[in-house]
Amino acid sequence: MKLSQRVQNLTPSQTIAITAKARELKAEGLDVIGLGAGEPDFNTPDEIIEKTYESLKKGETKYTPASGIPELKKAIIKKMARDNNLDYSMDEIFVGNGAKHVLYNVFQAVLDEGDEVLVPTPYWVSYTEQVKLAEGTPVLIETDESTSFKLTPELLDQHVNEKTRMLVLNSPNNPSGMVYTKEELKALADYLEKTDIIVVADEIYEVLVYDGEHISIASFSEKIKKQTVVINGVSKSHSMTGWRIGYACADSALIKGMTGLASQSTSNPTTPAQWAAVAAYEMDKTFLDSYNETFRNRRDHAYDLLMTVPHVECIKPEGAFYLFPNFKTTAVKCGFQTVDKFVTALLEDKQVAVVPGSAFGLDDNIRISYSISEEMMTEAMTRIKNFVTERI
Ligand code: PLP
Repeated sequence: MKLSQRVQNLTPSQTIAITAKARELKAEGLDVIGLGAGEPDFNTPDEIIEKTYESLKKGETKYTPASGIPELKKAIIKKMARDNNLDYSMDEIFVGNGAKHVLYNVFQAVLDEGDEVLVPTPYWVSYTEQVKLAEGTPVLIETDESTSFKLTPELLDQHVNEKTRMLVLNSPNNPSGMVYTKEELKALADYLEKTDIIVVADEIYEVLVYDGEHISIASFSEKIKKQTVVINGVSKSHSMTGWRIGYACADSALIKGMTGLASQSTSNPTTPAQWAAVAAYEMDKTFLDSYNETFRNRRDHAYDLLMTVPHVECIKPEGAFYLFPNFKTTAVKCGFQTVDKFVTALLEDKQVAVVPGSAFGLDDNIRISYSISEEMMTEAMTRIKNFVTERI
């Protein structure tokens, strides 16, 4: 069957592919350790599950408004005011089927053919594909270790032209784990305020910050707030990836456009999952504190072990749950021309699955998710170290 050009041009998500490959090898009986996970490794808190069950029993099983139930919008508004110093009204909130779907709707609602969207590398795999699906043109801005993989106003200025419509800014970052400081964000906000560029601020890893603090770029002024779409959700914050609830906070005109799209495509996100998200935001904050501490300890543990692997260079990440080391020298010293080839051989020989940096636009790095137990991480790092020392 002949498929559309749109679908033929699509690059399937490599992170999902590597997770599937690891699962496949596991099913064959191999002892695979997957370091590709993009989700917390424990179950959704019981309190959320119980409240969802109660809502189902009460009959919350029907259609809702396409952009979400008022109760969830109110909970989001409260959260944004409390945690991000941002005031939104009900018509400035859109709830969708996970942050990924919300981002998809944002690009569909804003872009026309040929509009350019600036995407700093390394980038989360779906941004560029979603921009293409909306007939926009992704324009990559290469960042490297010299700016801790962060965008600067100077770099931004080199890529802005009359076709630039949007900029994607993801902090805490997947895959680099970097978190923009207040000063860095302020400098970007000062530059952006002088333009009409729409800023897509993907803040899905907000609660997973270990050094410094999370600040939303939208919070610097009314002007920057008006041109920013804040993306967030409960997937990473409450271990709710499968429930599919994410949201956008933005100017009401954009929210209206996104709601129209949803009304003709997905309708509302699943009703019980919306009530689950209300329960998540009503939960005591001590849950988030212990959650954060678990991941901070895992980060320290994984980073210390990684630094014992010969020739590896890695900036210590400040947030999310990924390490993003440069493996180029290690790969070459082990006899591999590329880090991609090193990654494939590592999976075949030692059954450790990591995601190659090429999936995120940086060929010399790999992404290691530390969303696994410390025991498993110790075993994985031992295998990686053995793989390397057996070859150099
Ligand atoms: N944004 C980033 C940076 C992510 O890493 C992910 C998930 O991996 C998402 C958005 C999508 O989140 P959701 O599961 O809510 O669709």
